Amino acid sequence: MPSTTRTRTWHNWAGNQSARPLTWCEPRDASTATQIVRDAASDGRRVKVVGSGHSFTAAAVADDVLIDVSRLDEVGVVDPSTGEVEVGAGVTIANLNDALARQGWALANLGDIAYQTIAGAISTSTHGTGIGLTGIAGQVSAMSLVDGLGNQRRVEQNDGAVFRAAQVGVGALGLITSVRLRTTPAFVLESREAPMRFDRVMADLDELVSVNEHFEFFWIPHTEWALTKRNNRTVDPPRPLTPLRQWWQKSFLENTAFGLVCRLGRARPSLIPRLATALPGSGQVTYSNASHAVFASQRRVRFVEMEYSIPRDACAEALGRVKRMIDARGFLVSFPVEVRFTAGDDATLSTAHGRESAYIAVHMFKGTPFEDYFREVEAIMADYSGRPHWGKMHFLDAERLAGLYPGWDEFQDVRRDLDPHGVFANRYTERIFGAGE
Ligand SMILES: Cc1cc2nc3c(=O)[nH]c(=O)nc-3n(C[C@H](O)[C@H](O)[C@H](O)COP(=O)(O)OP(=O)(O)OC[C@H]3O[C@@H](n4cnc5c(N)ncnc54)[C@H](O)[C@@H]3O)c2cc1C
Repeated sequence: MPSTTRTRTWHNWAGNQSARPLTWCEPRDASTATQIVRDAASDGRRVKVVGSGHSFTAAAVADDVLIDVSRLDEVGVVDPSTGEVEVGAGVTIANLNDALARQGWALANLGDIAYQTIAGAISTSTHGTGIGLTGIAGQVSAMSLVDGLGNQRRVEQNDGAVFRAAQVGVGALGLITSVRLRTTPAFVLESREAPMRFDRVMADLDELVSVNEHFEFFWIPHTEWALTKRNNRTVDPPRPLTPLRQWWQKSFLENTAFGLVCRLGRARPSLIPRLATALPGSGQVTYSNASHAVFASQRRVRFVEMEYSIPRDACAEALGRVKRMIDARGFLVSFPVEVRFTAGDDATLSTAHGRESAYIAVHMFKGTPFEDYFREVEAIMADYSGRPHWGKMHFLDAERLAGLYPGWDEFQDVRRDLDPHGVFANRYTERIFGAGE
């Protein structure tokens, strides 16, 4: 039975999605979670599992039964012979990082925040940057889930199609209760952040991506500048920023001052190109620290985001077109365009399935019109078989998405098998996978 039943409103982080579910449950263990799914299925109700609500799409919108898995947050002991560890689906990446660090282990690659739950992150193909490394779903070796019939299933790597589908299930295959992850011995990353001319970044892109373990950059619209970030492993002891420098760089410049620039730009859009010229000056810093402390940033400025994955080789051309389009259409954009890279993998709906990928992410400050800008970017990405991030804004439906994934039908077969009655469906899954599936 549900551990709690309330009527309250759920909002995602960006504030652009909300739900007022009939029932709100916070199970403390897998058997309670299983019973909730069984009861909902037999009552003909739909279920949606929510993580930390950091998706911009309606992926986690629950109309009937909302299941918050944040109490399934246990982190097991890392097996030193394999480096694998079983963790509760609802643990946040921040808490997971801390628990692994205490045991001397770490995840090999992470995104740029750590507020998400591990199950939410893998379900949407969340990724960081590093051309030799996959997204987080690629670090999963097994998982336990409750399917739409209320059966508990253990899905292992040698389960083939079911495993590859469950790695990135977009919340549509079942309720994940725990995940087994591959970890790596704890390591220190040195981070070099520096502004660079946009043309230089484009000219040297292949090399920058290849020689750095984790390379990313933020091109600042209305300028010829990009803020680059090179993170590489070091065997030297950590040299973190001093507390004052940490506050100045990461809290004040990247959040307080940047938030002020965004608010000014929203109030007076014509100021945005001039305000943008202040941003490159904020970017020069070198430090090193435990990997998870380098990967994750604070994000206090709220925004909406769309991110497309395209083949790595198309990055410079596609970004050049985005840059020219912004000028031609006269869009005023206060948020940098973020560009990252990962290895390909074989999870069926991974946005990097079968190809080395570049990710181009566009953002708009909360409360600023974004749709025309995002649609123009989406049209450019379509020319490169662009695949949208499952947790970020996009305008594609099942018909368009089917052609972007070679394993689309295989995923749909697994979905029909695991959730034949659509217990885990909502309006987002109906749009992206089709209502009748
Ligand atoms: C500020 C910010 C920074 C971000 N940075 C990055 C980044 O660096 N890289 C990147 O790739 N993405 C990034 N994202 C996107 C984010 O990682 C994804 O949207 C992720 O899914 C959010 O995880 P969550 O725990 O909040 O899940 P939610 O948004 O709550 O849920 C996401 C999906 O997972 C499903 N789900 C959650 N838990 C379970 C479970 N236990 N069982 C089954 N299904 C489940 C939900 O039903 C839903 O479909 C960022 C988002 C924000 C707001």
